[in-house]
Amino acid sequence: MAAIKTAIPTRRFDAVIVGAGGSGMRASLQLAEAGLNVAVLSKVFPTRSHTVAAQGGIGASLGNMSEDDWYWHMFDTVKGGDYLGDQDAIEFMCREAPKVVYELEHFGMPFDRNPDGTIYQRPFGGHTANFGEKPVQRACAAADRTGHALLHTLYQRNVRARTHFFVEWMAIDIIRDAEGDVVGVVALEMETGECMILEAKTTIFATGGAGRIFAASTNAFINTGDGMGMAARAGLPLQDMEFWQFHPTGVAGAGVLITEGVRGEGGILINSNGERFMERYAPTLKDLAPRDFVSRSMDQEIKEGRGCGPNKDHVLLDLRHIGADTIAKRLPSILEIGHKFANVDATKEPIPVVPTIHYQMGGIPTNIHGQVVAPAADGSQKIVNGLYAIGECACVSVHGANRLGTNSLLDLLVFGRAAGNHVVAQNLKARSNKALPKDASEFAMGRLNRLETSTGSEKVQGVANDIRSTMQKYCGVFRTDELLTQGLKEILVLDERRKHVSFKDKSKVFNTARVEALELDNLIETAKATITSAQARKESRGAHAHSDYQQRDDEVWMKHTLWYSEGNRLDYKAVVTKPLTVDTFKPKARTF
Ligand SMILES: Cc1cc2nc3c(=O)[nH]c(=O)nc-3n(C[C@H](O)[C@H](O)[C@H](O)COP(=O)(O)OP(=O)(O)OC[C@H]3O[C@@H](n4cnc5c(N)ncnc54)[C@H](O)[C@@H]3O)c2cc1C
Repeated sequence: MAAIKTAIPTRRFDAVIVGAGGSGMRASLQLAEAGLNVAVLSKVFPTRSHTVAAQGGIGASLGNMSEDDWYWHMFDTVKGGDYLGDQDAIEFMCREAPKVVYELEHFGMPFDRNPDGTIYQRPFGGHTANFGEKPVQRACAAADRTGHALLHTLYQRNVRARTHFFVEWMAIDIIRDAEGDVVGVVALEMETGECMILEAKTTIFATGGAGRIFAASTNAFINTGDGMGMAARAGLPLQDMEFWQFHPTGVAGAGVLITEGVRGEGGILINSNGERFMERYAPTLKDLAPRDFVSRSMDQEIKEGRGCGPNKDHVLLDLRHIGADTIAKRLPSILEIGHKFANVDATKEPIPVVPTIHYQMGGIPTNIHGQVVAPAADGSQKIVNGLYAIGECACVSVHGANRLGTNSLLDLLVFGRAAGNHVVAQNLKARSNKALPKDASEFAMGRLNRLETSTGSEKVQGVANDIRSTMQKYCGVFRTDELLTQGLKEILVLDERRKHVSFKDKSKVFNTARVEALELDNLIETAKATITSAQARKESRGAHAHSDYQQRDDEVWMKHTLWYSEGNRLDYKAVVTKPLTVDTFKPKARTF
């Protein structure tokens, strides 16, 4: 309940990583093991980061179940992303995949095993052999708790490597010097209200996604897009923010995720007639078509009156035929989620499900080393010195317009490691920290102090809830010009309302309320970026399904969107269609 102090101390590090999820801890491990002085900040205890909730698996062409090839994985990723992904980055990720999975195995990650001792791999949406010919088992899994196993493995390795964790510390803003280089962050200790400058030769954002800009989301409450908000306020662009993935199987009414691994293990979607409708939409991959495809098919069934329940507003996920033994062995958490959130015994009854916001394909633009890149005035891509972004807050872009299941955990590992290696190669120990600008903390402290003194009439939760319901209503599975234009108007009104937020009783402000108010500033930046970018894109591609423009338009729209907070402005840049060593996959119609 302490008031915010204004004189703030400074601590100095080689590297500061904001975020202790899979990407942050993979990078920090690389740095700490190389002997760098590294601080990792997290709003929650590291192993409570959203990565812990990942269920299904990590994609890598180990070929443990049948023949597989990184090149097939690359094809699936390019096609799954509806040709918007950068093919150089995708090649890099798919080639590195087996290496990062074996590394985890050597770190002690408890993967499920085949009888011959190799890592068990399950089928997943959009994973195919021989360029789309038939499904392949590529998802490396630890039951339906893969993220949990991953995060604990990485945390333990980091403790051994003496990574310095700042638990329940929230980064508020980055510090850029006169040359635009990033020299650290200003952060708030959530328990005491103390603020501090963490000076760093390198700052890495690993802050995760912003799923909480939508009302129905599979994401943790802390996923408020802080990295994107900080980048936007520092004048950096956000890339491809119109592309948000709806996961086909969120528990209806609760939003909690049911992993695609359920369909990987044989589960099927049925409508009110008991029909396995995905056979009609995707004759080859059926229930394992990519997520954007399955979500739209489900929405179509509901729209045409074949939804289930009294309001005909969901469909059913049926896993009864898989058998109680396999469910208990491979999908134990799903049984529990069925009981707790849908009140069903999944071995005997199907689970009611509905497409639910799950993942942002866009984020802070980076190259394959994780370095943040922003266009210079002459149109060239300029590296922002001292700043990296990795994981869900970054856009490399490997997921294009739609991510394949299991490619996010892979992205965290590959690019977390690559960013770590790139930083290590710069020999930071031999360099001193750049001087801090005189007004280093002014901007961040100004935001905090504005909250303390504001006499406005808006409440944080009121504005935050309105952002979520507006995004849900106007920026959903199917979009139209009318919906997006109206939604954009309403989000801009909310941006104004947000400026008048104040605390009810100034003598009794809890730090949790301060944190929520700071998060609100990040939610609104992310929401503005999303709906502004979506409103401008007049085509349908991947997760951006536009009812007024139902075709993909490669001639005009095969380009990445860049959104700037200042002036709510858009710019575009070319997609990298040239891979590193192989031939380009040329755009084709997407059928499954
Ligand atoms: C329910 C669920 C299941 C999923 N299952 C899979 C799957 O099976 N396979 C797959 O590939 N992908 C899956 N995904 C996606 C994948 O898990 C996420 O994209 C990924 O874990 C994000 O990792 P991250 O390291 O980017 O961030 P996160 O794990 O979200 O961590 C973010 C970190 O940043 C910190 N942070 C944020 N803001 C601040 C701030 N201002 N100051 C300090 N710290 C801050 C947080 O405390 C946290 O430590 C799933 C996602 C969900 C929601």
